[in-house]
Amino acid sequence: MHMDVTKIIEWDMGHRVPNHKNKCRHPHGHRYRLEVSMRGAISLEKGSSSEGMVVDFGDIKELMRI
Ligand SMILES: [Zn+2]
Repeated sequence: MHMDVTKIIEWDMGHRVPNHKNKCRHPHGHRYRLEVSMRGAISLEKGSSSEGMVVDFGDIKELMRI
């Protein structure tokens, strides 16, 4: 059986666009959202750290460097 696992992170970040003709030249912020999905088979490896999982969320976080 295959399953999708999704990790979602959101963060706020500010920037400005120096040569923009309108208000974007002033500092302003945006909300960003990143979704990472992985599809795979559930591990049936007895005694494995990831037994019963498609992937360990800790490993997804490591891949996302958060
Ligand atoms: Zn902007």
